[in-house]
Amino acid sequence: MTNKDYYERLGVEKSATKEQIKKAFKKKALKYHPDRAPEDKKKEYEEKFKEINEAVSVLGDEKKRQQYDQFGPDAFQGGGAGHQGFDFSDVMSQFRSGSFGNFDDIFDSLFGGGGRRRSGARRGSDLAYETEITLEDAAHGTKQEIQLNKLEHCPECSGEGATKFESCHHCHGSGYMKRTQRTPFGLFQQTGPCPYCHSKGKLPQDSCKKCSGEGLVRKKKKIEVTIPAGVESGMRLRVRGEGEVGSNNGPSGDLYVIIYVKDHQYFQRDEQDLHLTVPISFTQATLGDEIEVPTIDGKASLKIPEGTASETVFRMRGKGLPDLRGSGSGDQMVKVQITVPKKLTKKQKDLIKQLKEEKPSKSFLKKMLGI
Ligand SMILES: [Zn+2]
Ligand SMILES: [Zn+2]
Repeated sequence: MTNKDYYERLGVEKSATKEQIKKAFKKKALKYHPDRAPEDKKKEYEEKFKEINEAVSVLGDEKKRQQYDQFGPDAFQGGGAGHQGFDFSDVMSQFRSGSFGNFDDIFDSLFGGGGRRRSGARRGSDLAYETEITLEDAAHGTKQEIQLNKLEHCPECSGEGATKFESCHHCHGSGYMKRTQRTPFGLFQQTGPCPYCHSKGKLPQDSCKKCSGEGLVRKKKKIEVTIPAGVESGMRLRVRGEGEVGSNNGPSGDLYVIIYVKDHQYFQRDEQDLHLTVPISFTQATLGDEIEVPTIDGKASLKIPEGTASETVFRMRGKGLPDLRGSGSGDQMVKVQITVPKKLTKKQKDLIKQLKEEKPSKSFLKKMLGI
């Protein structure tokens, strides 16, 4: 009695993944391989083998599996619509155990997995381009024009590699060919791209002089890239499709722009924060002042409170670099350093001498002397 349940035939759950079905099929197909059948069980093995093939021809195909789940096995019985041209009568004569080596290929070609295309289409190479920008550009974002020397379709032959063509006699100009493939599971027909004309339906009659038939030429091309504000040194920017063109209608590669941010004369960067050291005079530190400091967006004023010690760091909120993802900005940290003048006028000297004669505050002295 034939088991009508395809899942049971393969010994998998109804929820089995395609991978599990593939695995189960492989196992069963190897087991009931007709060549391995004992003399007295040849008929039985052959029957089993057919059953497994029938089951996998449905369950291995997403669409058919859906139909099967909905309508049951009757939708597929008797070599009806579900059989993809499997010819099981031929199984015995073709089947060679050795050919199981490329089992995955066979499975994939049956069910369209694996993506092995033979049209000759090849993706173009990715390109890398290094560029240097200033810290200001990193802070504000910038556009940069870069010049590439990359492979493009030949303008002379529009990338065809030839200027004269004749209809491909292999596929009669259709670009597609029906192939009968012999597999351990039988003969089946498959329509695929014509390998002779790479599914173009025509064959070249000459060779383009400009590109020597390659269809590709190296050309200078200018591209404008937008560098976002907040970019960090070493980041790669991907520009889709701006790599080299693919051959035989393959897609273009991508361009990677690698960005280096130059060191700045005054600012040191720490992620989004900027660090800056500014000199102030002794009097500014003592009496307090409002000074102008550079920021990445221009000048800004900073209040120095009375009695500021050297090396004090002031935080200027939001004056750092913007976040690349647009969530706020870093801060600018300003360290003040009190400078000691080397040259003084007579008047200045006198003033400082006066200052010297002033006694330091008692508490300070006490602290120093430990009393
Ligand atoms: Zn062809
Ligand atoms: Zn050409």
